[in-house]
Amino acid sequence: MNAPRPGLRPLDDALADLLSQARPLAGVEHVPTFEADGRVLAHDLVSALQVPPQDNSSMDGYAVRCAEIADEGVALPVSQRIPAGSEAHPLAPGSVARIFTGAPVPAGADAIVMQEDVQALEDGRARILRVPSAGQWIRRSGEDITRGAVVLRAGERLGPAATGLAAAIGLAVLPVARRPRVALFSTGDELVMPGEVPPEAMRPGAIYNSNRFFLRSLLLRLGCEVRDLGIVPDQREATLQALATAARDNDLILTSGGVSVGEEDHIKPAVQQLGRLDLWQIAMKPGKPFAYGRVGEAHFIGLPGNPVSSFVTFVLLVRPFLLALMGASETAPAAWQLPAHFDWPRPDRRREFLRARRDAEGGLVLFPNQSSGVLTSVAWADGLIDNPGGQAIARGDRVRFLPLAELLA
Ligand code: AMP
Ligand code: MG
Repeated sequence: MNAPRPGLRPLDDALADLLSQARPLAGVEHVPTFEADGRVLAHDLVSALQVPPQDNSSMDGYAVRCAEIADEGVALPVSQRIPAGSEAHPLAPGSVARIFTGAPVPAGADAIVMQEDVQALEDGRARILRVPSAGQWIRRSGEDITRGAVVLRAGERLGPAATGLAAAIGLAVLPVARRPRVALFSTGDELVMPGEVPPEAMRPGAIYNSNRFFLRSLLLRLGCEVRDLGIVPDQREATLQALATAARDNDLILTSGGVSVGEEDHIKPAVQQLGRLDLWQIAMKPGKPFAYGRVGEAHFIGLPGNPVSSFVTFVLLVRPFLLALMGASETAPAAWQLPAHFDWPRPDRRREFLRARRDAEGGLVLFPNQSSGVLTSVAWADGLIDNPGGQAIARGDRVRFLPLAELLA
């Protein structure tokens, strides 16, 4: 297969350029831990305490001294009862303590016997039916988190477990990167908003604006503040005006469509007139017409109009760029190697991102129509196959698969 046409930028180079431009946004926001899911941590979180705070029982049962239970069948009096949340007194010699899950282990006890292995006698004593080993069923102080430990690092994108962990060290408010402000507009005289014209009344040539919906959702999922400027007609003057408005007080201007070389594509010259264009056209399929530049202080990214191209370039380029703006330490999505359960004998010379799904056997199958206009392929897929330019795929080959679940998070 031939090399890609000169002039098209390899995707990895384009991404590296983009990330090098993404200086983290200034300004830290303090948000309630309850609302921090999906945000990027701005500072390390250091624990001021041990978790668990003290040795505690992981079973409902009896706290004992192993040395006093050399044989099974030993019966000892129960000297105290320790429910979770209460304080324990030192264990009196020659006795056991009734204890419950999460309750502190009394000083002097060195094991918990689960209640299934204990017979409560009528005289109040407890008969231990199984000889305990030292340390059993005790969760040690600090076994999860030690005092002074960095629990989460700056740059971590917080998920549900991370917000729980922050709560576990007592933090009700977390320092996070501020939300990127993104101005969004779609270009195209053919575009109509759903709800404005019913399907049966659509004029010839008109289509509904689908990109606006998924781009907005993708931005919101990443924690951006979206300023949606709607649809901009295919005119130079209107494009200039929309760009100028969008550049005010936004971190990123994101557009879809109008970024190719046709006479009706006004984005590229308009950006060049108002600011500068650093990157244009990437050697990937779908997604060739992709543009990066600046308008005033704002970053500019122009996505292709074809819905699949728009979607794929967003998840592969805009997503890491926005994560980098938020100071995220990890911007690359996870990739798996999975077997192809299909043949792909005629690859493009550009690097391809094929819409695929895992089948019941753990291999990958393709959506039958891989055209960049067929948004159904993305809705159907659960991931993208990253196929190097010019590489045919035969059934059974291992291919690189990017799960969409991660790209959409
Ligand atoms: P363009 O990049 O403007 O040349 O558009 C390429 C193709 O994508 C054309 O068929 C457009 O009609 C279509 N398209 C552009 N913008 C959108 C949009 N917002 N929603 C759906 N299709 C679009
Ligand atoms: Mg257009």
